[in-house]
Amino acid sequence: MVKENCGVVGLFSLDGTNVIPMLIDSLRALQHRGQEAWGIAIPKKDPLKKLGLVSASASEFKKIAEEYSSYAAIGHVRYSTIGRSNIENAQPLKVKDLCIAHNGTISNVEELSNLVGGCTFTPQSSSDTLVVAQRLVSLMSENGKLGSALSLLKNEMIGSYCFTFLSDDNSVFAARDPKGFRPMVMGHKDQNNTYIVASESSALAAVGAKLIRDVKPGELIKFSRNGFETEMFSDDTQRAHCSFEFTYFAHPSSNMEGSNVYLARKKIGQFLAKKFPLKDADLVIPVPDSARPAALGFAQELGIPFDEGLMKDRYSKKGPLRSFIEPHQSDRIEINRWIIPITEIISDKHVIVIDDSLVRGTSSKAIIKALRRAGARKISMLITYPQIRFPCYAGIDFPSQEELATYMNGKESSLEEITEKVRNDIGADFLGYNDPENLAKAIGIPHESMCFTCFTGDYSSLGIKPTFKTRLEMKGE
Ligand code: SF4
Repeated sequence: MVKENCGVVGLFSLDGTNVIPMLIDSLRALQHRGQEAWGIAIPKKDPLKKLGLVSASASEFKKIAEEYSSYAAIGHVRYSTIGRSNIENAQPLKVKDLCIAHNGTISNVEELSNLVGGCTFTPQSSSDTLVVAQRLVSLMSENGKLGSALSLLKNEMIGSYCFTFLSDDNSVFAARDPKGFRPMVMGHKDQNNTYIVASESSALAAVGAKLIRDVKPGELIKFSRNGFETEMFSDDTQRAHCSFEFTYFAHPSSNMEGSNVYLARKKIGQFLAKKFPLKDADLVIPVPDSARPAALGFAQELGIPFDEGLMKDRYSKKGPLRSFIEPHQSDRIEINRWIIPITEIISDKHVIVIDDSLVRGTSSKAIIKALRRAGARKISMLITYPQIRFPCYAGIDFPSQEELATYMNGKESSLEEITEKVRNDIGADFLGYNDPENLAKAIGIPHESMCFTCFTGDYSSLGIKPTFKTRLEMKGE
């Protein structure tokens, strides 16, 4: 089953400006959320979809902006949480006169598909977003309005979702799931009186729009000639903002739930330093790129020199990409192979390496090996995120337990035993993880309003008790 995390955008210009150049720029500013495919949709036309990075199509931007000229449009960058990376699975999708772009994961899509007459799914060729769109269109034909359809659909659908929709009558809509798993913000560009909704405020900044506010969990916003109208399709007050967004996924410039991601990461580093005051270290280095602010905060808190001991080669084919969200293990290894240590900085030092998460252990292992080759005397690795022990069914790609570095072959184990197993596997002299309380405090969001399911295994915010499947069953690979 194809299930999406990704980045979404919706634009509506009240003064009739062609928003396609802004749409392309905003998608580029969300590229860190998905690097496999991208697409745009305007009313009364089939969506345009392309594989790879948005920038790979730069030579066509002018032509695309002319051919798809519109004052109302939505767009999408794709990162597959489940399902293969191919053009059929790229978005936006169109069902009847409704185009849809989705960030999140719908975990009960087989059930949902029965409500739309059933579909034949394979992990390679089906989409939870398509099923949602079909069900929405069918509910709208019974109830008339998107808001009423969503308030029914939310009871049938389990998962995380931020949607942008576009209808053939030139309206743009944005909806965020009742728990607020994934981020979504709205903004306005005064110069051309254009509203924008996007997964993150980095997309707003890229087009010169100012942030108005977060889209509320359970809110549906409609943009049309009348400006914007808003309604709540859910009155759920329990929140489950994804904590992983703050340590890894989101862009450092983004503001979400009242917190700036860069400052939150720096604070996470400061709080980590209180938990692990390794004062005998010579140097603190980040794993590029997301861990940089946390490493800086950590070093400043303890008064230990901060330096860049690892450089990412940005000129190789995969150099600019993020390894974790690459869909294939071989690509992740290839990216990590091009993180190169600086011997003159590392040699003969006790180095504290700060990383934003340790999921499969692929990059940690490669980095520690490289640091040893560069002559590090002692390597202490600190992870700004707690032990990831359970699959995520809310939009991040670790769908099976067996692929996680913390997997203990089903043996009941303490956190200390798990940490020791991972430390041994990756080859570090010391390994320390953050904990949810420390992390929530540093981010500044109450612990109970955040999701830590991948650490706790408590799926109650999704209302499920899952039976874990293998990656092959989930992704067909
Ligand atoms: S399970 Fe983990 S990665 Fe998934 S939404 Fe919750 S915190 Fe985020």
